[in-house]
Amino acid sequence: MIMMRIRFTFLLFIVMTIASTAQAQKKISFEISFKEPQAHYAEVQMELSGFKGETLDLKMPVWSPGSYLIREYPKNLESVTATSGNGKQLAINKVNKNTWRVEAGNDDRILVNYRVYAFEISVRTSFIDESHAFLSPTGVFMYVDNRIDLPAEVTIHPHANWEHISTGLEKVKGKDNTFYASDFDILFDSPIEVGNQEIFEFTASGVKHEVAMVGAGSYDEKVLIKDMTRIIDEATKVFGVNPNKRYVFIIHHYASGGGGLEHLNSTVLGASRFTYQNYNGYLGFLGLVAHEYFHVWNVKRLRPAPLGPFNYDEENYTTNLWVSEGFTAYYDNLLLRRTGYYDENSYLKVLTNDIGTVENRAGNLIQPLSLSSFDAWIKQYRPDENSVNTTISYYNKGALIGMLMDLKTLQATKGTKRLDDILKAMYDEYYTKLDRGFTDAEFKTMAEKVAGVSMDDIYEYVNEAKPIDYNSYLINAGMELINQLDGYSIPNFGVSLANNRVTTVSRGSGAWDAGINVRDELVAINGYRLDESGRELERILSGAKVGDVLEVLVSRDGIMKTIGVKLPASTKADYIIRSIEKPTAEQLKIRKIWLSL
Ligand SMILES: [Zn+2]
Repeated sequence: MIMMRIRFTFLLFIVMTIASTAQAQKKISFEISFKEPQAHYAEVQMELSGFKGETLDLKMPVWSPGSYLIREYPKNLESVTATSGNGKQLAINKVNKNTWRVEAGNDDRILVNYRVYAFEISVRTSFIDESHAFLSPTGVFMYVDNRIDLPAEVTIHPHANWEHISTGLEKVKGKDNTFYASDFDILFDSPIEVGNQEIFEFTASGVKHEVAMVGAGSYDEKVLIKDMTRIIDEATKVFGVNPNKRYVFIIHHYASGGGGLEHLNSTVLGASRFTYQNYNGYLGFLGLVAHEYFHVWNVKRLRPAPLGPFNYDEENYTTNLWVSEGFTAYYDNLLLRRTGYYDENSYLKVLTNDIGTVENRAGNLIQPLSLSSFDAWIKQYRPDENSVNTTISYYNKGALIGMLMDLKTLQATKGTKRLDDILKAMYDEYYTKLDRGFTDAEFKTMAEKVAGVSMDDIYEYVNEAKPIDYNSYLINAGMELINQLDGYSIPNFGVSLANNRVTTVSRGSGAWDAGINVRDELVAINGYRLDESGRELERILSGAKVGDVLEVLVSRDGIMKTIGVKLPASTKADYIIRSIEKPTAEQLKIRKIWLSL
């Protein structure tokens, strides 16, 4: 019986194999060229074969994984045409904002041509000029609806005088400037830099790393290799394994600015071209390297269930960006501490800065952290004048939740386990073993399993916008958070200004209560004209007391108005973290592990 069954299965296998090879093989390839780079255009030719007789819906993503905003990439497309292999024009019609329908006809080959306008400088948008092309793939490549699984080849025809192509995509042997993606998820996760970037290479944690310096600043290659290697080695230690064979850093240099976007085996970083010249700027750059590299594990592989497989058509909602981004933000600083770039005091200062940023923002007590993640699409990525009053960032508050979970785990396990072990256990289980995303409940369950205690208290801080009792966690390391402004009564006027115009009004401030508006121009206070620097406001406030009423002359839409602003006491804090007076040996042991002393 068992034999018969095996034979039958074997036969079925043969029949199925014949059936599938009888079907024409579906193939997709792209040719990218640059006829008018100075006008910021790329020409894209998509060649499809094996779709004879089908009605094809071609799509372009509307967002890029890692950057949670609908960016409407198809808005940059023009002159979309379809031709059959024998040169016959095919009808191609738009069905919705990011879908084009083509009737394939009887020819096996279809050529779809379009032009992409690329002039937005960021790590997640394409940019082309006469000096280089940065191709952010979600806004460049169309895919066949429901066929993300198909492989693709991409051939780049660099503009004259462009010599290099940097990308995490595999090279196709024997074909110049041609790259291979085993499916469109890989293609969409592989940005491409074409131009005259300076390139250097090094090996760290057994992985070949390539660094493409675009519009290069004054960096020292040897120093960068040494520092990046240390960070990569330290990040790899957390998970015990580095999943890549090759990894590419594409680093864009601007006059100012920054940011990064993580990919499976590459990243795009933005850096000031002067960043390498001062230590603090350079530390910021190394922090960015640590952040994006930590994403190799956290979010690119260990990921919340809604973040992969992706739906490129619309928002992909998750309540867990405080893990994916917040914990990554906790580790970007922690890795710099572990590698010695921060000493104990500067690391604690970084933590207190985060605490201050979170606690001094009115939105912290309005928006729960899990909702900050869920609503990233409409809030975090679309800030407005009222954001400070109504939202909290899952980056810095998520980092603080990471700190609480780390300290709680260290305490509960007597220093034998920490947040590293929770993340590693999650990675081993949900990426390596199950190869799927985790649910909210699964993360909590694993954290509790590793720590051996309930994490209910920490999840209350995630799911409710309630004040965090930091000291009940810091005490585990014999430390405490002190507000240096305790006991002081400081008046709270509550606006920020740009050229004397109000840009934000803080909830609960005098300006908020009195009805000073965003966009009001502050003209005079107590009869004194504000000069262009706006310093007059600072001077008057420095002499004011809680309860004073300031007479504020504003211009609102050209109409002069006098508004009395009564100054309440500020609730803003200025924190330090310090040792308690007599820490126990156990507290000191945990502190030593936590802070890598
Ligand atoms: Zn990140």
